[in-house]
Amino acid sequence: MSDAAALKRPKTPAGGRAAGARDRVTKRVVLADPLSVEGIEVLRAAESLEVIDASQKGREALLETLGDAAGLIVRSGTRVDAELLDAAAGLEVIGRAGVGVDNIDMEAATRRGVAVVNAPGGNTRSTAELAFALLLAAARRVAEADRSVRAGRWERKALRGRQLYGNTLGVIGAGRIGAEVARRAHAFGMRVLAYDPYLSAERAADEHLEAVELDELLERSDFVTLHVPLTDQTRGLIGFSELARLKPTAVLINAARGGIVDEEALAVALEQGKLAGAALDVYGTEPLSEDHPLRRAPNLVLTPHLGAATLEAQREVALEIAGAVRDALVAGDLTAALNVPQVDPEERAQFEPLLELGRRLGVVLSALTDGRCRRLEVRYAGSMSRVTRLLSAAALEGYLRSTVASPLNLVNALAVADERSIDVARVHSRRIADYANYVELAATGGPREQVVGGALLEEGHRRLTRIGRFHVDIMPRGNLVLVKNRDVPGVIGEVGSCLGRAEVNIAEYHLARTEAGGEALGVIRTDVPLPRDLIDDLSGLPSVLEVRQVILDPPPGA
Ligand code: NAD
Repeated sequence: MSDAAALKRPKTPAGGRAAGARDRVTKRVVLADPLSVEGIEVLRAAESLEVIDASQKGREALLETLGDAAGLIVRSGTRVDAELLDAAAGLEVIGRAGVGVDNIDMEAATRRGVAVVNAPGGNTRSTAELAFALLLAAARRVAEADRSVRAGRWERKALRGRQLYGNTLGVIGAGRIGAEVARRAHAFGMRVLAYDPYLSAERAADEHLEAVELDELLERSDFVTLHVPLTDQTRGLIGFSELARLKPTAVLINAARGGIVDEEALAVALEQGKLAGAALDVYGTEPLSEDHPLRRAPNLVLTPHLGAATLEAQREVALEIAGAVRDALVAGDLTAALNVPQVDPEERAQFEPLLELGRRLGVVLSALTDGRCRRLEVRYAGSMSRVTRLLSAAALEGYLRSTVASPLNLVNALAVADERSIDVARVHSRRIADYANYVELAATGGPREQVVGGALLEEGHRRLTRIGRFHVDIMPRGNLVLVKNRDVPGVIGEVGSCLGRAEVNIAEYHLARTEAGGEALGVIRTDVPLPRDLIDDLSGLPSVLEVRQVILDPPPGA
């Protein structure tokens, strides 16, 4: 018997289970990392579950214990890789006590049919409170004052701060945590502005948020707090030019993810007094290096990623994950699963090219609408009626991909859309294009309806065939730049030269127009994604009306 197996719970635990319960079919849940006692009690209270705590036993003992485990609960400390999954042949569900599942090989788990559930809401309040603590600490210069008093000084004038009451807080990203921070700000008598392209008017009204564009938020706010996920769209969201828009008396808080604020730009802004103060809980690289310029920057409060580090958050996360694992094992309820395919594996393989087309169309649509969508219509023609729900989920997965903090997949995409008040409709049409299998996504709710269409050709080849009013024929992969321009001579040359000067190679250039002399659309596949300033350069060309970038296959490591 292994050490870990010896850790089996007693037959009559404090949870009150009858001694005879061991005679029934029990499923073992192994704890690979420590879990708060409240979570353990939830599992123990289920008659058919047995909890084995292997959290202090090291990897080898853990692997031995997993031989007959049906459930596994980890935090960020345990690597759930192919080796571990091989050791756990009977595993049905993995619970991650927290949000991120970076330590779990999702592909390997999915391939083995192991459901993965996480606990996205458990640390919301604690993280919101930390953001608020940072806001107050930066506003009243608490950390600096503490250092000053300890150093023997008494600097009441030099340490004058800002009052929250009557001032304006700008919340960037009004999801779970952003909304909690906003509620606290209201209680302090603050006005709250929000920038979140995915925030519905109803939710903004319910939460008493004034929805504004990013520039307006930066210019009007006295305090700015970030609560967006780190995505292609939010990486470097606050850089030199955004910091320059802030009032010199403003204070910036980031308790979301490192990488959203350009750290060099922030250090310079603080150094030059362009910003009154800032507070950070998260960093591009953690732990923060010893010689990092932020450590020397003035008026800056630094904490070591403490958002979820409270007794209560750990308890709530434990309760949430234990409930999800119990429901999966006892009731077969996999609605919280991040990775469970909803059709049988054979059918799923057959329809995968179609789902991937839906996903990719969703990504293109997302770039066209900036996320402004209240209703998504999935129009289709062809033999796909059995998978239209999955197709809608795939389209939403692509559409929402760059906007959510926790993993998004076929199982949870519809629920996330619902949370964001996006209505989803499926519309079958006998014939909406000259293709046997055709899918069109239409988004309404923004300034105008946006439509993208695509077809699935033989052998699973996908084509992007419609963007707005334009008929195109291009493979939806890699990096696409969509250039809408006036249909006048010389535009292709100008665009090509602009990209050439920036040493960006063009792999494909497709041109479409509705009528001569009207508007035209260039769809350009480039070898690498374009940086923001190059997109600005293209947008500035005389005949160019609009430029959008669609990153369908982000480069590795991006
Ligand atoms: P959430 O998914 O509920 O909310 C994210 C919000 O950001 C959504 O409303 C979304 O519409 C919005 N958004 C997405 N892209 C945007 C963009 N480009 N511009 C503006 N808004 C955009 O997530 P959450 O649970 O509130 O978490 C928010 C952040 O907090 C995440 O980055 C998460 O990783 C981080 N977090 C940090 C800690 C910590 O320890 N400091 C703990 C938990 C969560």
